[in-house]
Order: sequence, then C-alpha cells, then structure tokens
Amino acid sequence: RHGSHLPPRSNQFTQPTKEHLDALKAISSSTLSTLDGSATEEELRSFNDDWMNKYHGKGSIVVKPKTTEEVSEVMKYCYDNGIAVVPQGGNTGLVGGSNPVHDEIILNLSNLNQIRSFDEVSGVLVADGGVILETADHFLAEKGFIFPLDLGAKGSCHIGGNVSTNAGGLRLLRYGSLHGSVLGLEVVLPDGRIWNGLSKLRKDNTGFDIKQLFIGSEGTIGIITAISILCPRRPSAMNVAVFSLESYEAVQKVFAEAKGHLGEILSAFEFFDKQSYALVKKHQEENGGERKVFETEGDFYCLIETGGSNAEHDEAKLTGLLEHLMENEMVLDGVLAQDSTQFQSLWSLRELVPESAGKAGSVYKYDVSVPVGKMYGLVEKMRAKLREGGVLEGDGKSEGPIRAVAGYGHMGDGNLHINIVANKYTDEIEKIVEPYIYEIVAENEGSISAEHGLGVMKAPYIGYSKNETSIELMKQIKQLFDPKGLLNPYKYIV
Ligand code: FAD
Repeated sequence: RHGSHLPPRSNQFTQPTKEHLDALKAISSSTLSTLDGSATEEELRSFNDDWMNKYHGKGSIVVKPKTTEEVSEVMKYCYDNGIAVVPQGGNTGLVGGSNPVHDEIILNLSNLNQIRSFDEVSGVLVADGGVILETADHFLAEKGFIFPLDLGAKGSCHIGGNVSTNAGGLRLLRYGSLHGSVLGLEVVLPDGRIWNGLSKLRKDNTGFDIKQLFIGSEGTIGIITAISILCPRRPSAMNVAVFSLESYEAVQKVFAEAKGHLGEILSAFEFFDKQSYALVKKHQEENGGERKVFETEGDFYCLIETGGSNAEHDEAKLTGLLEHLMENEMVLDGVLAQDSTQFQSLWSLRELVPESAGKAGSVYKYDVSVPVGKMYGLVEKMRAKLREGGVLEGDGKSEGPIRAVAGYGHMGDGNLHINIVANKYTDEIEKIVEPYIYEIVAENEGSISAEHGLGVMKAPYIGYSKNETSIELMKQIKQLFDPKGLLNPYKYIV
C-alpha cells in the first residue's frame, strides 16, 4: 500500500461478516465476496484497486444493485448495522476516492445502467447513475444531441460518477460546469431514504437547491442513482487543429487569438508540453501506431476544436485564424484534421497523455487551477524542486527515480495537470512533492483540485484551498446527511 497519510481503520465501523453478506445477498443477488468464496481476492482486485494502481483497498464484499430500491435497502441495512460503504462508478477517479481505504463495502453502480427518458424538444436526458458516459453520448448522438461533458475516461466512467466528482473535462469551455447543466438528481441517502429531486426544470427558485450539494460530493453524502441533464444539440460541423509552438507565452497568445477569431464556435482549447508529447509518441510506437505529425516539433502544443451548425461558416473562421497564426509566425507548425479519422487521431495526441504516462511508470497526478498566465510556471517549479531533492536529472531518465514531469491541461479553463512519472511510488518522492505543490498553488490563489476532487489523496490538504469557515460548514453538511459517517469514510473532509 502506498500513501503515507492514509488514516488508520476506525473502530466505529462494524467489520463485515458472513452474516452481513448473507443479508446483503438477500437484498441484491449480484453480490460478490471472498467471505463465502463467491469471488476470489484476485476477482475483487479490480474493485479494490484504483485506476493508477496507487491505492489498494481490502474490501471483501462488492454489492451491485440493479434498482434504486435495492440501493436503498442496501444502505438502510448498512446504516442500521454501522457498516461503512464506498460508492463506486467506473472506478476511473484519480484521487483514490472510489476504493475502500480499509474494509468498507463496495457499492458498485454498474448494474444501474438504463436510460430512463429523453425529450427531443427540451434536450433533457434522464438516466441511471451507472450509465457509461460514452453510452449516454452515443444514445444522444443518434438523436442529434451531445452529452455536455467529455473526457478521456468516457468509455468506462459513469455519469453518476461524473456528477459525484463534478468532472470538468475537455469541453467545459463550451458547455460549462455540471453545476449548470444538471437539472435534477435522484439520490439514496446514507440511511436508505430515497430523495427524488429529478427535476427537469431549468428555472426553479423554490428554496435551497439541494442537488448542488451532491454535485462534487464524491459519494460522501448520498448515492446518485439517476440524473436529469440538459443536453445541447450536437454541432453538425466539427473541426480540430493541433499546433506546435516554441513557448508557453506563444500558447497564451494563440488562445487569445482563438477566442477572438472563433467566438462561439470554439469548443475546446487544450495544451500539452513536449514531455507529454514524448510520452504519447512512445506509447503509440509501442502499440505500432507511430506516425510523424509535425514537420517542426516544439516545446509546446495546443489543440483547438470548433463545433458549429454551419460547416462553411466554421471553416471560414478557422481558416482565418490559421492564416493569421501562420502569417504572424505565432506557431511553428500546424495540422488541420481532413476527415473524421484524422479528427480522432489529432484528439488522441492530447487524450492519450494520462494513459501514456500511466504506461511509462507510477504517476503522481496533480490537477490544479491557477490563473492561465501562471500555469506553466508551476510545472517548472516542480521540476526544480525534484532536481533539488535529487530525484530528477535533466528532463528525466528512463531508469531514474523520476522518468518525466509532464504538464498539460484544459487551458481554456485555467486547469493544469502535472504528471510526475516515477519509477515507483515512494515516500521519498511524495515528501518532496507534497505539500510543496499545494503551497505553490495556494501562493497563486489557485485550487488544489480543479476537477478530480479530493478523495483520500487531497483530503488532508483542503485547507490550502478552503478557509476555516468553509471547512466547518462542509463538516456540518456531512453530519446532517450522514450522522454516522458511514459513506465513503476517511476521505474528502477528515
Ligand atoms: P469513480 O472513479 O468510480 O468514483 C469517483 C468518486 O465518485 C468516488 O468518490 C466515488 O465514491 C464517487 N461515486 C461514483 N459514482 C457515484 C454515485 N453514483 N453516487 C455517489 N458517488 C459516486 N476527470 C475530469 O474531471 N476531467 C478529465 O478530463 C478527466 N480525464 C480523465 C482521463 C482519464 C484517462 C482518466 C482515467 C480519468 C480522468 N478523469 C477526468 C477522472 C475521472 O474519470 C472522473 O473523475 C470521473 O468523473 C469519475 O467517474 P467514475 O464513474 O469512474 O467514478
């Protein structure tokens, strides 16, 4: 197990036994456990381990309810018996939030996966929390609509997980945060009560907007069993271009120009550095997909996506931008997608960064937001700190403690990802990086978690981004919803 600050098991929770398992099996037949041999430890590993293989729980029971009522009964049983529960969606979270810290029961939502309704006039989709994001988006595509969220883990993550983490993703710039597009939720509360807040209204000023509390609550105050979300029309014309650039200053200038030239059709502006690009190239080479993309490579890259309803109009705008960038030598080189295959392959240069980093080693992932102008300075400070600590040589070496430090992210939202690719997770590296990284974010009045959440990884550091009154209020909210502290313990606020 790695993670020097993992809290010890609390005796306030009942240890799950065979008797509890039998009761849970009577409620939900899709229950797996090592306690009665219905699953091996190996089979439970994919539920106990996180996506980064950094956090490893010891849960012996996985319950996979098929209906909201089953979720409700499971929670009621656990509440009455003092058993701690971790809700789990697609298990793609990056802060150790979706796995047990000790022996919590894993309540996996993957069997709760039905689309409930879609209104083609309003664009309101109502679907179970366990629907996979890509499945929801494919369903909407057939109807000419789009899910207002997209991210690299779309093939595995659940829409309930997305709402629980308030995921940001690749098109927040265009469609805004889930706090705006989610219209309603159905939630099972820690004591088993079902809260039906599945509103389909855009406007509703009748008191506190309770659903907002669940958006980004990371499974600590309720289990999201269904969501109602406003989905925009799918743009009929989409384009993507990727540029190589010589400096971070150039990326910022291109961002300003892109906003000016493209206006409302700009749907994503992403950036990545040469270290990120090198990781992706290596990963592609290893998988036989190597291809030369740029004649002139740069220290930085940016990806610009447009989406509109009139191809000619969009192309005129995009061509105008490209000519302007080339004429003014603001970019070194650029590629504009010519067809849908190239559209995907250009996007993959950016989307593959997290996966490629994961293949290259054990990754310390930091997801922060700071003013755009200060973003890349954090990566440089981090490299300097690691060199000073003697674990990074130059830009990284394949056999060194640190193989690469990559910076990339959602430039349009001031959201930076720093990935420190290490030979293996060690306390030595963690101590050099944390809390230093949070200190430099706080110095810049940034957020220590822009979109991934707090989980177990960042729970102890919340004070770097939230003041005491905020933390006190959060603790009171947790107490109100979950007085026994059974839901996703040891995380979020501790
Ligand atoms: P899980 O990982 O299963 O759970 C995450 C948290 O939510 C846990 O605390 C869990 O307890 C809770 N939870 C899950 N489902 C429910 C539910 N139904 N009710 C209550 N609580 C629940 N994130 C971004 O924001 N933007 C990105 O661009 C992005 N890109 C990614 C790319 C890759 C390759 C990967 C692996 C991850 C990326 N992520 C990104 C992180 C992750 O995919 C998101 O946080 C996602 O929203 C998690 O969804 P999930 O279903 O996998 O949730």
